[in-house]
Amino acid sequence: MYYQPANNLLQQRIIMVTGAGDGIGREAALTYARYGASLLLLGRTEAKLAAVRQQIADEGGADARVITLDLSQAGEQEYRQLGEALMREIPRLDGLLNNAGLLGEIAPMARQSADSWRNVMEVNVNATFLLTRAMLPLLLKAYRPSLIFSSSSVGRQGRANWGVYAVSKFATEGMMQVLADEYPAARLRVNCINPGGTRTAMRKNAFPGEDAEKLKTPADIMPIYLYLMGDDSHRKTGISFDAQPDRKPGPA
Ligand code: NDP
Repeated sequence: MYYQPANNLLQQRIIMVTGAGDGIGREAALTYARYGASLLLLGRTEAKLAAVRQQIADEGGADARVITLDLSQAGEQEYRQLGEALMREIPRLDGLLNNAGLLGEIAPMARQSADSWRNVMEVNVNATFLLTRAMLPLLLKAYRPSLIFSSSSVGRQGRANWGVYAVSKFATEGMMQVLADEYPAARLRVNCINPGGTRTAMRKNAFPGEDAEKLKTPADIMPIYLYLMGDDSHRKTGISFDAQPDRKPGPA
């Protein structure tokens, strides 16, 4: 996608990114900060989040806040408390990028383990729902808020061996569509991004033999992440976007 955002696209915006310590989430957080946003960096590994916070500061960005939360362990009450605490501390939330995700086992359905299945559904679906629900009141206080979910090509067309990951991404697409139908675009816009094969740790786990040099980097796919987070997309809702529309799914 070619997109030339204004330098101040996200000035004065308060944006939460989940899985902000690594991969695409890390790059999105750094990118949003470069365009003026104040970041809430949520993830499970405090040291990684602290490093992103430091990099934002080193680049002259607004002070970011680290929220350490393991999405596979957190209970309903923790999301509620987080929502209540942030309601006291910040005026609104202009954007939420639900990016954290787990791959689980790449194996035929007959061999998918129940524990791995539950864990992936917990992080990719249940935690995403609970966090989104907790953040909705803050999002609805913002002018033109944007809610983005992270999908995958296997969340639109099932593929052998992608088991729970594919099922969790179908659920993510569904969550996006339901929410988009519940709010007019002007009140809250809700969309998905399918990053397409991108050079990260998750991708390496999925395709260990692949030549990573042939893949786009997280930085390469940022235009759609910026477009959907900023006001230029204010009429778009209920859409599943591809960060790499010309790329065919599967190994590079
Ligand atoms: P990475 O594995 O590189 O990063 C995932 C991030 O999610 C990490 O920061 C990780 O934290 C965090 N995370 C994982 N589990 C938890 C948890 N229990 N609690 C809190 N945070 C957690 O993945 P990518 O950057 O590649 O993927 C980002 C999103 O894009 C995912 O939703 C993925 O499904 C999707 N996607 C990626 C594609 C790709 O080719 N890379 C293709 C299609 C979709 P930590 O660093 O601590 O492990």
